[in-house]
Amino acid sequence: MTDKDLTDELKDTAFRMNADIIGFADPGCFMDRSYTGNRPADIMPDIRSVLVLGVGVPRGAFETLPQGRAEYTNTLMAGTATLRVIAFQLARLIERKGYKATILPSEGSEFGYWYADRRTLKASMSIKYAAYCAGIGNYGMNHLLISKDFGPKVRMTAILTDAELENEKDMTLPLIHEHCRSCLKCIEICPAQALAEDGTIDKHKCADYMFNTLGGLRCGMCIKVCPL
Ligand code: SF4
Ligand code: SF4
Repeated sequence: MTDKDLTDELKDTAFRMNADIIGFADPGCFMDRSYTGNRPADIMPDIRSVLVLGVGVPRGAFETLPQGRAEYTNTLMAGTATLRVIAFQLARLIERKGYKATILPSEGSEFGYWYADRRTLKASMSIKYAAYCAGIGNYGMNHLLISKDFGPKVRMTAILTDAELENEKDMTLPLIHEHCRSCLKCIEICPAQALAEDGTIDKHKCADYMFNTLGGLRCGMCIKVCPL
């Protein structure tokens, strides 16, 4: 049975701790044919909910790119640290109610997909897709989540739990944001030519640029130019 009280308490706690976004995805939506990545049930077989948590990233971090790459990278990691603190408290709250919870690494953080599987660069599951299922936003041609409130300038994490929360299965948004077709700015700006007009990304080109050319600093140019 859906635990509405816990769902409400999680929302209240997240916003009190200055999260900007909280949403709940039904793990069943990962069975949709549009999704080709790893699934949350691969990590937690009896999963019932995916809680998605996000914070907006200060816009100044993007405006100062590319000169301010160290500052941009540091700002992103501050977002990751903030999410870890909030998610840890939410996970503890879930467990105090008798359920179990574990926290996914933010994509692009040191335990995220850049490091999880060096061969495929595939995350243990896609937080972006969970956010899409939870109705938080959809995808851009830059392969990032375009959140309704912050566009792509957002940092996210997710909590997997066996608690049955008030999950959304809101897949009414088109998978790709409708503005992308008339824009394509991220494809033009990408210094690694990692993005293509057919909507694909060569993750290895992007990773090679960040880890070899930029020495581990993050690039962010496909977010900076995004008008959303
Ligand atoms: S820069 Fe343009 S094409 Fe790229 S994600 Fe943003 S809106 Fe879409
Ligand atoms: S982060 Fe940089 S290299 Fe990677 S896809 Fe975006 S613009 Fe291209």
